[in-house]
Amino acid sequence: MSLADRYAFLQSELARLEHAYYVLDNPIVPDSEYDHLYRELLDIELAHPQWITPASLSQRVGGSALKEFNSVTHVVPMLSLNNAFEETELIAFDRRCREGLRISQVDYAGELKFDGLAISLRYEGGILVRAATRGDGASGEDVTANIKTIHAIPLKLIGENIPEVLEVRGEVFMYLKDFQKMNQQAAARGEKEFANPRNAAAGSLRQLDSKITAKRPLSFFAYGLGALEPVSWLPSTHEQLLNAYVKLGLPVCTERRVLKSVEEILSFYNEIGAKRDALPYDIDGVVYKVNSFAEQTQLGFVSRAPRFALAHKFPAQEALTIVLGIDVQV
Ligand code: NAD
Repeated sequence: MSLADRYAFLQSELARLEHAYYVLDNPIVPDSEYDHLYRELLDIELAHPQWITPASLSQRVGGSALKEFNSVTHVVPMLSLNNAFEETELIAFDRRCREGLRISQVDYAGELKFDGLAISLRYEGGILVRAATRGDGASGEDVTANIKTIHAIPLKLIGENIPEVLEVRGEVFMYLKDFQKMNQQAAARGEKEFANPRNAAAGSLRQLDSKITAKRPLSFFAYGLGALEPVSWLPSTHEQLLNAYVKLGLPVCTERRVLKSVEEILSFYNEIGAKRDALPYDIDGVVYKVNSFAEQTQLGFVSRAPRFALAHKFPAQEALTIVLGIDVQV
């Protein structure tokens, strides 16, 4: 097979895997296998940039929305994250940030990479008015009725300093103990079990009947921002934004801290990696975001991901047989 044929094969094979994962919530290979093929695609594009078209999977985010839901246009796109698997990629990321900003040291907000489903929650006058999935990044599915069944998500923000419009971005996920209990109950009733908590969360949120979603033990962590009015509400750093979220009554994970060097980043990665199995929910890595919003704006975006953030993935935990061996329910 020529390299051009291999490239064409990767485009169609990855499109098939992404459809199963994003649209049907029913992955057909483990993430590590997908990641491997995706990385091969990126390497080929690096060597042959003339082959890249706007239709390449490297140029877009996620999957398309299910037609059964109303579509919501994201005023601020919901992007992906660039991934790093090796220490050298992390060092290169820090170098690019420092060089791009022309400064010798950058502060990063270190947090967990939750393995769930990205969601955007729109609050107007402090009231939750709309919730949408990421979809293809430009538009997603209106899942407001389903989101309102999740107890961790406030229907009304609290506190003194509530912006007129606030789009909170975060992850819907399932605690492992809730996932296990739900699967035990499904097995006892002779029903299909879910493959993993991410799949269970995505499938549960994208139910057409919100009474079914209400029975599923979903939870939520906030980690980002979409639209905001007035913009003067914005604190100067990501860390301060998350602290402001806590004051508004939003759930924010406490496993986070500001990291001031590659050494601090690596010790955060190793520390979280060591406690990964003891965490009550699934994570697949950690995320570093340039802490200052002014610096984030300066660095900007590439086509499908911000230049100011990086997901540092942990080695694969799952095995192909585990994913394929379970009859997946959505
Ligand atoms: P991504 O999951 O690598 O990164 C972006 C997503 O990370 C965001 O949309 C958000 O949902 C999530 N996230 C979790 N914690 C976050 C935090 N603290 N801050 C910001 N975002 C956070 O990118 P992606 O575009 O969703 O897709 C790639 C992932 O999906 C990979 O893990 C890949 O293995 C998996 N995937 C698997 C298959 C498969 O067939 N198994 C197919 C497609 C994608």
